[in-house]
Amino acid sequence: MKGLMMSDSLLVTRILDYAARWHPEQEVICRTTEGPIEASTWKDVHRRARQCSLALRKLGVREGDIVATLAWNTRCHLESWYGVMGLGAVCHTLNPRLFAADLEYIVNHAEDAVLMFDAPLAPLVAQLAPRLRSVRAFVVLTDRGHMPQAPSASGSPPVLCYEELLAAEAGAEPGFAWVDVDENDACGLCYTSGTTGRPKGVLYSHRANYLHALMMVNVDSAALGSRSRVLAIVPMFHANSWGLVFAAPLMGACLVLPGPHLDGPSVYHLLERYRCDFSAAVPTVCLALLQHLEATRQRLTHLRLVCVGGSACPPSTIQKLEEVYGVEVRHQWGMTELCPMGTIGGLKGTLGALTKEQRLAIKSKQGRPSLFVDFRLVDREGRVLPHDGRAQGELQVRGLHVAREYFRHKGSHDVTADGWFNTGDMANIDQYGHVQLTDRSKDVIKSGGEWISSIDLENVAVGHPQVLEAAVIAIPHPKWDERPLLILVPHPAAPPPTPEDVLAFMQGKVAKWWLPDNCVLVKEIPHTATGKISKLELRKQFKDYRLQ
Ligand code: ADP
Repeated sequence: MKGLMMSDSLLVTRILDYAARWHPEQEVICRTTEGPIEASTWKDVHRRARQCSLALRKLGVREGDIVATLAWNTRCHLESWYGVMGLGAVCHTLNPRLFAADLEYIVNHAEDAVLMFDAPLAPLVAQLAPRLRSVRAFVVLTDRGHMPQAPSASGSPPVLCYEELLAAEAGAEPGFAWVDVDENDACGLCYTSGTTGRPKGVLYSHRANYLHALMMVNVDSAALGSRSRVLAIVPMFHANSWGLVFAAPLMGACLVLPGPHLDGPSVYHLLERYRCDFSAAVPTVCLALLQHLEATRQRLTHLRLVCVGGSACPPSTIQKLEEVYGVEVRHQWGMTELCPMGTIGGLKGTLGALTKEQRLAIKSKQGRPSLFVDFRLVDREGRVLPHDGRAQGELQVRGLHVAREYFRHKGSHDVTADGWFNTGDMANIDQYGHVQLTDRSKDVIKSGGEWISSIDLENVAVGHPQVLEAAVIAIPHPKWDERPLLILVPHPAAPPPTPEDVLAFMQGKVAKWWLPDNCVLVKEIPHTATGKISKLELRKQFKDYRLQ
């Protein structure tokens, strides 16, 4: 027997409708790419998003078309997202930090119809434009006064001004209703950075993004409410800003968009000036903020909680933020393929009283499964491993916001016959369900037939007060197959440590045979386009390195 309840679709545009109807006065603050900080409201965003839909419709965008954005976290970008999704079209976020060749491949592969971009990124777009096969129009997310100089060549797609397009629709938007699509229809597209092979597209549905946003706001995750003031540091092009641009309107929270500047002083300014009590960021951004706080001896007066993920957050970062600055850290694990967050970081009530050390040890793990995503560990033969905190295997997930295949990429083997997505991460899971990442499977170090966790070694090394950043890679070894090499960036505010100092500091904190044989100091460690340590690049740099 069917229930007798009303049914409606989980469309992300409904989230914006809700915010505009019941929280119209709530602020949306934005540091614009032109420089000034602008204040608006959910009502304004809703109005302008619908003007954007109307403008895009005039440009020929229809249900199922793909519109690319190449932009930082700004209000115009936010409006374009909802404007595109509200037409039943798909918003394809492009990462401006990718190489031009990757961007070209991605836009052509997705067959993007329109490309909307921030004015400061005009030189990159000009470089790409002649090789983009499907783009019919470019829209610069600015006003006439800030339009890039170069006129569009005759015969090439027009370069249009966003504010002019919206002004032409002003007053028409009350007559516009979002195109009514199915909740399983696509609304977003994001390519993984493709550290192995070509980037692959993850095609998000309205429903998956909606459910992911519900997961993010819950008290054991970002714990958002209508009184929250959210600084969305994590970029919208990095897997939906971890859902924050849906989660904030879902709760009627204030949203602060930082624009292009994610350095320590800029982030600190916004956190304090706009009294933000929640944020989410990758560990490198937290580190930059901590460095700024230490250098200027300033305090965080409003920030209460930060979700950290994207790469392993070192315990020393968690400890400093919590104990010195009074900010709770929740460590989460996710992937573009999961919308992106797969775990939640709030401590379970059943853990009972914990010592400070036990608490930190649990918080340094990558959280625990939420209602919507299930986890399992398998060995190389596909046998399911126990959750005892020791057995290490490949992490597989399935659930309501997990990709089942990549966009236009049939026949890949990322999902098992019984419906689990292979994450490519190595992990263990303890009896309470805490997931601990040990490595990406392509980064594992196998020494004398046993695994060494590069994440554990990096976490310990970066706890040394004279170390800013640490990376560990495998180096071939005649007897043990592979041994770890520790690569360090010294802390700028302290004298550089000697390798012996660091190795002595690490002794007793990891198994003796894990200790790296060698350690080198470098000025900089290479990062990927999403701000993670690029092990691929490091392995290239150290390919001729021989252990002493
Ligand atoms: P990209 O590699 O393109 O940046 P993703 O953001 O999808 O793409 O990266 C997902 C990967 O990031 C995961 O498979 C995992 O290896 C790593 N990762 C994410 N969160 C964490 C975390 N909290 N700790 C360790 N690794 C993480």
